[in-house]
Amino acid sequence: LKMMNPVTARMYGGMVKRGLASAAPTTKLFINGQFVESKSDKFLDVHNPATNEVVTRVPCATAAEMEAAGSAAVEAFKTWSQTSVLTRQQLMFRYQELIKKNMKELSKLVTLEQGKTYADADGDVLRGLQVVEHCCSVTSLQLGETMPSISRDMDAISYRVPLGVCAGVAPFNFPAMIPLWMFPVAIVSGNTYVFKPSERVPGATMLLMKLLQEAGCPDGVVNVIHGQHEAVNFICDYPAIRAISFVGSDQAGRYIYERGSRNGKRVQSNMGAKNHGVIMPDANKDNTITQLVGAAFGAAGQRCMALSTAVFVGEARNWLPDLVAKAKALKVNAGHEPGADLGPVISPQAKNRIASLVQSGIDEGAECLLDGRDIKVPGYEHGNFIGPTILSDVKPNMKCYTEEIFGPVLVAVSVDTLDDAIELINSNPYGNGTAIFTTNGATARKFTNEIDVGQIGVNVPIPVPLPMFSFTGSRGSFLGDANFYGKSGLNFYTQWKTVTQMWRDSDATPTGTATAMPVMR
Ligand code: NAD
Repeated sequence: LKMMNPVTARMYGGMVKRGLASAAPTTKLFINGQFVESKSDKFLDVHNPATNEVVTRVPCATAAEMEAAGSAAVEAFKTWSQTSVLTRQQLMFRYQELIKKNMKELSKLVTLEQGKTYADADGDVLRGLQVVEHCCSVTSLQLGETMPSISRDMDAISYRVPLGVCAGVAPFNFPAMIPLWMFPVAIVSGNTYVFKPSERVPGATMLLMKLLQEAGCPDGVVNVIHGQHEAVNFICDYPAIRAISFVGSDQAGRYIYERGSRNGKRVQSNMGAKNHGVIMPDANKDNTITQLVGAAFGAAGQRCMALSTAVFVGEARNWLPDLVAKAKALKVNAGHEPGADLGPVISPQAKNRIASLVQSGIDEGAECLLDGRDIKVPGYEHGNFIGPTILSDVKPNMKCYTEEIFGPVLVAVSVDTLDDAIELINSNPYGNGTAIFTTNGATARKFTNEIDVGQIGVNVPIPVPLPMFSFTGSRGSFLGDANFYGKSGLNFYTQWKTVTQMWRDSDATPTGTATAMPVMR
């Protein structure tokens, strides 16, 4: 809390007065414009991953509180959906300015609860801010279609109208960016919202709510509930919720997609990944190694677009020692310490899971060229640290290849040709991201043409599209139809309404009674 300004510290709420185990401050719910203390008897501790100290306690909202959030959104929709597009655009302009002004405060909260470095947290906030900036284009994005004279004296207009109440469920790894992929797009197009941040990183969301309110967003337009399965089930089942955005693991993503769809809701579900970086022997060696190391170990590998598998083609396999040397030089430290290249992973459980996946690789015959499992970070002995780890000679049947590790572990595979690399990647069930490093345009073109992955970088290691495009992960990494943000994101949160109208002079010839289907010639 010492790292926060007084406003943020207050937002974390008062001390819990119900004699619960920990005296850490609680995180509030945000319902109908009020930051309210939950009446729940179930709270979850949120830890600073660098120290494992409890930072805040997040409630599992009660049924009545979730219901109150849902009804507030239903009520707010009645007026919010009738506001002018310029009103909603102006809200986004003010919101954009406030996020910019509070970037450092948001980054600090991200680092405190998620563990990533300040520089990386700045990127987390900035990439979310860019979605808000894109939302300012709603006056173009939400334009419909028209056709005059589709028949005599008859015109047609298709409007893109909001759906109603929408909802979002977010993961822990981008506490600012991913919430900002969700509710700004929904509300700028006239919907209202129920949002559930990850119970492990609620802080950035709560500050984003405070800023949204300061920007003039009316009460009830966005509501925040906290919790785990029960909150997710509420979102999947609440009749008024029309659409759900989910980002997170496969297990939760499939569950929410199935349960939400069964209840007739639209669902977009971004899930896990195994992203391959292909290294051609003609690539610029220094640049490629630098990019690979940053993309594999940055954010301690906890990015859905982390390049977690290096595919060395032919002679490029000889670059492994240089890669190891570069990875070894990275500084592992608490995210707020100056000069840290990577921070801790989210929890002791995550650390154990990552370590056991590394061990399974070794047991199955991979060679561990760099082992960060026993790293000690002075001053942060209780943190969940793992240093950069590299496994080589990895084969596609090994568990360290088939599972998403989600930690600072790079698995290296060697193949003989580009065709082999393409076949390997296309055989993997995930389709989130991939990259190729080459100086040959024809090689790059063949790769982008033949690869079946939704986001591709050519000499770009983490090709997360800017918000004028959409986040287009595919195959096992995505369920749904409309992708997040960009035009597609707006389509997700709107539906068509088409008006066919005839205006004819009253003294024009009457048409007479027609019982056949109108054909509009
Ligand atoms: P997670 O699935 O554990 O949690 C995400 C959200 O789902 C949380 O709000 C959580 O409360 C809820 N949840 C968790 N388990 C649930 C269950 N069994 N049923 C219902 N709800 C559940 O994910 P995480 O650990 O927070 O995030 C890491 C995962 O997210 C990784 O797999 C990563 O690849 C993925 N991710 C994907 C993208 C993408 O755009 N494809 C982006 C970021 C993260």
